[in-house]
Amino acid sequence: METLITDSPREAAAILNQGKTVAFPTETVYGLGAAIDSPKALAEVFKAKGRPPDNPLIVHISTPEELPRVASTLSPEAKLLISRFFPGPLTLVLPKSSAVPYAVTAGLDTVGVRCPAHPIAHEFLQCCHSPIAAPSANRSGRPSATSWEAVQNDLEGRISVILRGAPSRIGLESTIVDCSGPHPLMLRAGAVTLEELQAVVPSITPAGKTIKNEAPKSPGLKYPHYAPKAAILTHEQGDAPQEAGPASAWIGLGTPPSGIAIAKTCASLDEYARELFSFFRYCDREAIHAIYCELPPNQGLGRAIRDRLKRAEQS
Ligand code: AMP
Ligand code: MG
Repeated sequence: METLITDSPREAAAILNQGKTVAFPTETVYGLGAAIDSPKALAEVFKAKGRPPDNPLIVHISTPEELPRVASTLSPEAKLLISRFFPGPLTLVLPKSSAVPYAVTAGLDTVGVRCPAHPIAHEFLQCCHSPIAAPSANRSGRPSATSWEAVQNDLEGRISVILRGAPSRIGLESTIVDCSGPHPLMLRAGAVTLEELQAVVPSITPAGKTIKNEAPKSPGLKYPHYAPKAAILTHEQGDAPQEAGPASAWIGLGTPPSGIAIAKTCASLDEYARELFSFFRYCDREAIHAIYCELPPNQGLGRAIRDRLKRAEQS
């Protein structure tokens, strides 16, 4: 399949409306979209990524007014979160409407819904005739794509269109909050922090580990994720190894160990989040064997960075 690269949201949407797959920029990471009413395009998303079929897709809408098309009911907590954080880097898990097929939700009666705060994504979604199911636009298991070039590296020849935009402003996937049960649960940390969520809905708690034999709350989180080819070795602040072996890299907020081939010191948590996945990909191109990663404190945006680093280390 030939992959068209375009700067036109209108052109990309016209091709998507013919039942094709389109990668598009958002403020979190690039997404790989298919219309929720196109079974063929949805199947192509799973195939292009190599995504396991039991990992549900997040549905993207252009404005909060489209929510009733995809969600059947909104709890009072969901309404508060929507009025505060939509559009933005927050996905809500809600009871699904009949318009959302089980191919999107991997058989669940709930649907993850997000409204991106990104001008190109907004124009693209507005030109699409239906809501768009879109996981991150990377091969399954790899770091999410935060630039159109990273999408091209992973998916050229496997998808119909790449809608080109700037590198993603946030660089980590959306925060996910499950509002379908009795208590709202944060399933995945992201740029909307737990502290910000609790300022609006104090009862939100982070989801604990899934109990053995219990269905996972967020099926996708059981899979390996975010992993470059190099080994990831995390350390707490102040605990960096004295010296690192050859062909090693380091990323963090403090001082790199000596002997490092490639070191990236970030000036802020925002920069750490924004640069992390593109740094992983850069290290792979440079044939780095091990990437040492400093863990930020477990609060604010640091919680999301720690989460991704720990998952990449285990992958
Ligand atoms: P990605 O778009 O690649 O970041 O993956 C989407 C993530 O959202 C996966 O971890 C899914 O498990 C999660 N997700 C999507 N829909 C649901 C849902 N209905 N319930 C729980 N988690 C979901
Ligand atoms: Mg993903």
